[in-house]
Amino acid sequence: MSELSPRMKALVQPTLVNFEPYDPNFSETKINLSANENTHVMPEQVKAAVLEALSAVELNRYPDPMANELRAEIAKWHNVSPENICVGNGGDELLFNFFVGFGGAGRTLLNCPPCFSEYDLFGSIVGTEILNIERDSETFEIDEEAALKAAKDVNLAIVTTPNNPTGDVISVDFVDSLCDACPGIVMVDEAYAEFNNPNFFCESLLKKHDNLIILHTFSKAFGLAGVRCGYIIAAPDIIDVFAAVRQVYSVNSLTQAAALAIVKNREAFREVIDDIKSERARIFAEISALEAEGLPIHVWPSEANFYLVRVKNAAEIHKALRDDYSILVRDFSRVPGLEGCLRITVGTRSENDELLAAIKSLLKEN
Ligand SMILES: *Cc1c(COP(=O)(O)O)cnc(C)c1O
Repeated sequence: MSELSPRMKALVQPTLVNFEPYDPNFSETKINLSANENTHVMPEQVKAAVLEALSAVELNRYPDPMANELRAEIAKWHNVSPENICVGNGGDELLFNFFVGFGGAGRTLLNCPPCFSEYDLFGSIVGTEILNIERDSETFEIDEEAALKAAKDVNLAIVTTPNNPTGDVISVDFVDSLCDACPGIVMVDEAYAEFNNPNFFCESLLKKHDNLIILHTFSKAFGLAGVRCGYIIAAPDIIDVFAAVRQVYSVNSLTQAAALAIVKNREAFREVIDDIKSERARIFAEISALEAEGLPIHVWPSEANFYLVRVKNAAEIHKALRDDYSILVRDFSRVPGLEGCLRITVGTRSENDELLAAIKSLLKEN
């Protein structure tokens, strides 16, 4: 990563002086298991429905700012009213707007790292103070007591379930207590919820807590990472804040049309999601067996479409996978709390086979 130029350091807002341009560490490989995308092909009838919807879009017209047709369909799905929904240009935009709306100078976010690095990044861009309650270094569990105690004095809190990059889930009871403890807004990022037991949703808490926001995305389970669409569910007056700070036309017409087709056809993804879940179990068993054989690797259980492993010489393994096997995974080995860790997306059966074979031979050479 490169720093800002000295000239720019003198010109940007003082809070941004030490910021660096984002580097996704992307390289072209045959198999990309680095970004938690859905690598399965989209079910044929869904793809046809998406393409048909796209071809009907009037490109000369501005999009509906609040994406009302999509919003109504999402509301029906989640059994809430459209006023409880705001759609965004990816979950990322909604996360950013969460901080624009509720963070900023003089305000504090409760964060539980290791977690999605964008919380810290977006919060810091608008000057939010970040209060980190670190997860356990071995199990990655949140110290719930410490988090609930800290929550009393913060303006906003964010938790992720299943968590990226550790794959673990938190209990609905914990979120319930967090909403009680925090005088401000609590965001629960459920970007990977579809890969967990589908009965797990903090949605049941929305009736009880009007300070709760639940975030979802079409980028992971529904395979639309390139389309950029996510949404939140929250109390109508919270949605009004997002409607006030968002870029009016951030969700373009093609995105609205594609996402609407996906929501209407969401049942068709069941098979793909089940396949990812069963591959996840297979990979966990195979890597655990390598560990039992005495090879220097550990894998954590995951409820998402990826798994975190700790390996000896992680940075070298990452590089060898990329350069010798053309397989890209995500290197977290230099991130505090994730020393030696790689995050690997669950791919298709053949992608997973190649990955497992490559890891096995690299570990045996080591
Ligand atoms: C992928 C992801 C998101 C949102 O991704 P978008 O592509 O912007 O919708 C949000 N939170 C977490 C933890 C994620 O991993």
